[in-house]
Amino acid sequence: MALEDDCIFCKIVSKEIPSTILWEDDDVLAFRDINPAAPHHFLVIPRKHIAKLSDADATDSELLGKLLFTAAAVAKKEGLEGYRVVINNGAKAGQTVWHIHLHVLGGRPLRWPPG
Ligand code: 5GP
Ligand code: ZN
Repeated sequence: MALEDDCIFCKIVSKEIPSTILWEDDDVLAFRDINPAAPHHFLVIPRKHIAKLSDADATDSELLGKLLFTAAAVAKKEGLEGYRVVINNGAKAGQTVWHIHLHVLGGRPLRWPPG
């Protein structure tokens, strides 16, 4: 699987950068966010480097579904009931790491709409 040299999350996939991994399989990883925005905050990423959601193509649709399914499975394993799943797509939406990731946030009340 192609990994990008300058990508933090590719380095988490390759274990060059340590992380607290909650789930991993052939396609995806879930690990705790280093700077949690809620008592429970983990990220779900594909092993494959896709910079952002809008760069995914039709061949990625099964993988995108697996990311979402993994978010729910890990949330269940963590004992979360109410939680939020977020994808920041692009700098204007607050994306700072250019490897697609789902945020899963829980353990506190979450306001709607988000700021
Ligand atoms: P974004 O702003 O791109 O949607 O989210 C990036 C997230 O990645 C942030 O919540 C940030 O705290 C997290 N993050 C950045 N670098 C690392 C890292 O090296 N390890 C872990 N576990 N999380 C990271
Ligand atoms: Zn990457």
